[in-house]
Amino acid sequence: MPDLVKVAKFGGTSMADFNAMRRCAAIVLSDPDKKIVVVSATAGTTNLLTAIAESRSDSEKLDLADQIHKKHLEICSQLTGNEELLNKVTLLLDQLKDRALGGPMTPQYRDEVLSYGERLSSTIFAEVLREQAGEKVSWLDAREIIATDQNHGRAEPDIEQIEVNARKKLLPNLKNRCFVTQGFIGRSKSGVTTTLGRGGSDYSAALFAEAVNADVLEIWTDVTAVYTTDPRIVTEAKPITEISFNEAAELSVFGAKVLHPATMVPAIRKNIRVYVGSSLEPDQPGTWILKQTKSRPVIRAISLRRNQTLLTVHSLDMLHRHGFLARLFKVLSDHKISVDLVTTSEVSVSLTLDTDVTTPGTGYLPDEAIRELKTFCEVEVQRNLSLIALIGNNLHTTSGLSGPVFSSLEGINIRLICHGASSHNLCFLVDEDRAESVVRTLHEKFI
Ligand code: ADP
Ligand code: ASP
Ligand code: MG
Repeated sequence: MPDLVKVAKFGGTSMADFNAMRRCAAIVLSDPDKKIVVVSATAGTTNLLTAIAESRSDSEKLDLADQIHKKHLEICSQLTGNEELLNKVTLLLDQLKDRALGGPMTPQYRDEVLSYGERLSSTIFAEVLREQAGEKVSWLDAREIIATDQNHGRAEPDIEQIEVNARKKLLPNLKNRCFVTQGFIGRSKSGVTTTLGRGGSDYSAALFAEAVNADVLEIWTDVTAVYTTDPRIVTEAKPITEISFNEAAELSVFGAKVLHPATMVPAIRKNIRVYVGSSLEPDQPGTWILKQTKSRPVIRAISLRRNQTLLTVHSLDMLHRHGFLARLFKVLSDHKISVDLVTTSEVSVSLTLDTDVTTPGTGYLPDEAIRELKTFCEVEVQRNLSLIALIGNNLHTTSGLSGPVFSSLEGINIRLICHGASSHNLCFLVDEDRAESVVRTLHEKFI
């Protein structure tokens, strides 16, 4: 085993074209400890593949596949004289067209189609690296390592099996090698390709890092650091030098796209330090995500999670009776609906659900579930909401915090407040169309 093992992940914009890939190659080659490189599909490709999987017209599918074809061959054309790469990429593109046509509209088919994005980008990127680093670069099929269940579109990794696979296929070969592999994809026990959900390459990289007991997980993206809020919403947002595991976990769960919500889970399990930096400006200081940080501000950052649904159920049966909540959650669980926040009173319960519009089978509230709930309670559903979270430390015990927060939002209709359940966040729901301006107001006032 080498002394230090780092896993580096590069996102879609970092893989956007040949020059972007070159920049990433320089980052990888500047540090011999980067042993495993996990890449996303090239920018926009997963969206095109999703459109293929959802289209009912063969000519439209072919049109979309052609766009993917052109984009990838354009990158290959800059690696002059590499016939072998050209053959590999053309083969993948041909397979994609074959698979795309006439596929049954099943989640399994969708995952199979989506997997081509990362398979193409990793094949090309391995060659960009090999141009400079030669034979020490190996392409690795992530599906050999990332074992998952069969829950297509949002597969759950099988941590034990992943460790077994890594011990067998990766660990003995890490010395003097650099593996290039795919984010986002895995394989179920029955041998079928699965995906971990949109943005899942960060999670893949964390799973690889966990499986090889890496010292550092690096997330190279299109922003220089984790910021105090999404810099696309607040231009004055500031880069964060250090943030704790728990704060980063909450920030991502509450919507900061810079990290997939599950990324911190493996890192916390194995105490792996995480670095977030920009592949465009690798010399700019990034963010270290650590178990413990020097500073522990009450409010470190603000996050925004869109597409929220608020489900409120009322029933007088709840009053001094038992079993109501169990019954309510059974219906939600039967429909695989994942609940994020819950508040209750004597006669009503409010829950937030992620209206995940990108992954089928998750989040949105099926009519059937509402019908079942209506057999024993009154149901009210409000959509087009956003969840805003203040992330920091000891928010649950800091007195005099919620007063100034909510008085700065006078005139804003606040639907549900969760304060006290976690020491790291205070969050509430607002109307989608007011959400960005609420983030701006809070950022200006509290950060
Ligand atoms: P990648 O393709 O590299 O995975 P993503 O687009 O998934 O990149 O994530 C990076 C984006 O996350 C940034 O461009 C930024 O707009 C968004 N983002 C949201 N919240 C934050 C935050 N607190 N700090 C930094 N970036 C954020
Ligand atoms: N390519 C996948 C997506 O766009 C995974 C990722 O980029 O993290 O969602
Ligand atoms: Mg991402």
